[in-house]
Amino acid sequence: MDLFEHQAKELFAKHGVAVPRGGVAWSPEEAEAVAAELGGTVVVKAQVQIGGRGKAGGIQLAKDAAEARAQAERIIGMDIRGHTVRRVLVEEASDIANEYYLAVLHDRASKGYLAMASAEGGMDIEEVAATKPGAIVKVGVNPLIGLRPYHVNQLLYGAGFPPETHKGAAAIVTRLYEVLTAEDAMLVEVNPLVVTTDGQVKALDGKVSLDDSSLFRHPELEEMRDTFAVDPQEQAAKDKGLNYIKLDGWVGIIGNGAGLVMSTLDVVAQAGGKAANFLDVGGGASAETMAAGLEVILSDDKVRSVFVNIFGGITRGDLVAQGILDALDRLGDKVKVPLVVRLDGTNAEEGRRLLAESPSDKVVPAATMLEAAAKAVELAGPPAKEGA
Ligand code: GDP
Ligand code: MN
Repeated sequence: MDLFEHQAKELFAKHGVAVPRGGVAWSPEEAEAVAAELGGTVVVKAQVQIGGRGKAGGIQLAKDAAEARAQAERIIGMDIRGHTVRRVLVEEASDIANEYYLAVLHDRASKGYLAMASAEGGMDIEEVAATKPGAIVKVGVNPLIGLRPYHVNQLLYGAGFPPETHKGAAAIVTRLYEVLTAEDAMLVEVNPLVVTTDGQVKALDGKVSLDDSSLFRHPELEEMRDTFAVDPQEQAAKDKGLNYIKLDGWVGIIGNGAGLVMSTLDVVAQAGGKAANFLDVGGGASAETMAAGLEVILSDDKVRSVFVNIFGGITRGDLVAQGILDALDRLGDKVKVPLVVRLDGTNAEEGRRLLAESPSDKVVPAATMLEAAAKAVELAGPPAKEGA
């Protein structure tokens, strides 16, 4: 679960990371009020869960409350790469002398944590990572040892932070590590960390991704979930207890088992298509689950065909086939696109026979995974043009 900048900064403040003073505003009037209370020049920042807001014009300075109101008017409702701005963060503006980058995160490869820093922070860190990877210093941290002063020194000297920033930056790294571990986050990132013209070091931006599996330990964080940010199809799937992730292709995917679903995405890509989603129905490929899954997938109007890929183990192929047929019955006219079904494993033959006997002209059986992928991609046809 990703947090908004203002939520990330609330966590930062809770753990003693220096952040600018500010408040959230859901309307231009509220923005004006926050700015009036802060006094002086403020910065009005679009709150969306995507980077590059600065470049998109979603971050603007305002020299007084009236101007803050006008900027909020412009920014609220703005679309930043598919994310609608519904609220802004109004903060006291900072006089920036220098911008840096700091992050602490989980590192699967080392089964530990990783701390990263760069003296080339600011809006183009992705470009720095791509063109000058050496400018980003990475220090592995063993979770059993924890972040120690020698890690911090390695990080700050390694990245070439000027000596006068070390004290402030070290305090912030230490506290970011505390945010990561105490709040069960997967990633905590600050870009930019700034040094102001009067020598203060503070987090000007903040990104926090929480570990969903740990949210039960943090009910107060669960409350930060943004119901707007969740895709309506993902929400519907979640309500039905499905493991569904929306993707941006046009071939719908249903499979049993996360591994099988992932390889299904790969074969669809190999066949020249692009998956519209990830949907794992797990062990229970009942009519109930199949209908629920199909319904969610078909509510995405980009979907032009569906590839159902089931390997019967504990799940019996004939039951899955019956589930698919019952689901088709239940959904009736809602099913407008072909369903390519590949069944293998336990009782696959019985399953395929049931499907072959189906009166529905939507079911297309296929013998192998590759054949099914090719068929699903072919029946989907070329992708619809964007916006069409
Ligand atoms: P992002 O573009 O979504 O990563 O948003 P950031 O919060 O990182 O802001 C982008 C850029 O806006 C920063 O790198 C700064 O250059 C600029 N910016 C943000 N806040 C302030 C501020 O208080 N004062 C000044 N002068 N610039 C700011
Ligand atoms: Mn940023």
